[in-house]
Amino acid sequence: MKRYSIAVFAGDGIGPEIMMEAVNVLDVIQKKHGINLFFVEELVGGASIDEYGAPLTDRALDFARQSDAVMLGAVGGPKWEGLDYAMRPERALLALRKELGLFANLRPVKIHKALINASTLKPEVIDGVDMMVIRELTGGLYFGAPRGIETLKDGTERGVNTLVYTSPEIERIARVGFETARKRRKKLLSVDKANVLEATELWRKVVTRIGKDEFPDVELSHMYVDNCSMQLVRNPKQFDVIVTENTFGDILSDEAAMLTGSIGMLPSASIGSEKRRAMYEPIHGSAPDIAGKNMANPIATILSAAMMLRYSFDLIAPAQEIEKAVEAVLNKGLRTADIFEAGTQKVSCTEMGAAIVKELR
Ligand code: NAD
Repeated sequence: MKRYSIAVFAGDGIGPEIMMEAVNVLDVIQKKHGINLFFVEELVGGASIDEYGAPLTDRALDFARQSDAVMLGAVGGPKWEGLDYAMRPERALLALRKELGLFANLRPVKIHKALINASTLKPEVIDGVDMMVIRELTGGLYFGAPRGIETLKDGTERGVNTLVYTSPEIERIARVGFETARKRRKKLLSVDKANVLEATELWRKVVTRIGKDEFPDVELSHMYVDNCSMQLVRNPKQFDVIVTENTFGDILSDEAAMLTGSIGMLPSASIGSEKRRAMYEPIHGSAPDIAGKNMANPIATILSAAMMLRYSFDLIAPAQEIEKAVEAVLNKGLRTADIFEAGTQKVSCTEMGAAIVKELR
């Protein structure tokens, strides 16, 4: 029997609620398909700060390193907001990405037909949207040095962050973009701000070179980030695979996510150069406003589990089964509060999870 170990980091806020449903789904899958999934759980984020005094312990990091894949719920919340940056729950995420070498974040954005009215955009604008946003994860503004806030001699303050990329960092994320595009419609859009920012001028140059030298079969185009942001709401169907740097990707992928109506629907994968070493998580945060109320939508986390089966374990059929079960439950009109509309049936987080499990069985 094939055995895969999974580090399960539920995290904070709604994290434990949504993770429980994803693990239930994986449990059905392992029984149905004769695979052995071995879960190792540990606290991360605010929960880890409260218990161990640090957002990510060495023990948790070891679990992540030794596992075949990591599943993460979400971290953070108002309780920990006043802490020093190095001690905030979000550092756990950044540290995991850095330590595991997860430099690419893949976010599929697909409109579920049943949810077409959940979007704030007109159905004719979003019907058929199916894109992949690839965000560079370990470089750029979020990691660049120098960084910090300093008090100047005249008593005023200065905040500094640095947008920096090296050509090898751009090359490897470009390759992820081209390879992803190759498996889809063979079209890659690279997003930058090359007219203003030198770091992204280099980005454009390197992506163009990689395309020309290694992926001549993929059609490459470029767009400035401000235009891309506008085009995403004007005509999102034009996009297939988008590759972009860390900060732009953070913003654009949330914007793309909202085309679907709720960030509670969207999974993501963070991958490195080793295919199996990856982390899977919903794109949303810990949603403190609804935490503990059994209201959260577990679908993003459940679909993240499906991505894990597909990308890390090559278990394509079980992954498709999960995706089909989600689709079927939505078609039956079951909705958590975030995607609820008149004429559908409002269900809790646990009820949504149970319905998907039932569909799988
Ligand atoms: P958020 O994504 O947690 O919530 C934004 C809004 O979306 C809220 O109204 C929330 O109720 C709703 N929402 C999010 N996920 C949902 C779900 N599954 N079902 C239903 N509704 C859902 O973003 P935020 O409010 O900006 O951040 C809250 C905390 O989460 C902060 O501490 C932030 O730093 C952290 N955060 C963590 C991650 C992560 O762990 N990957 C990502 C983003 C934010």
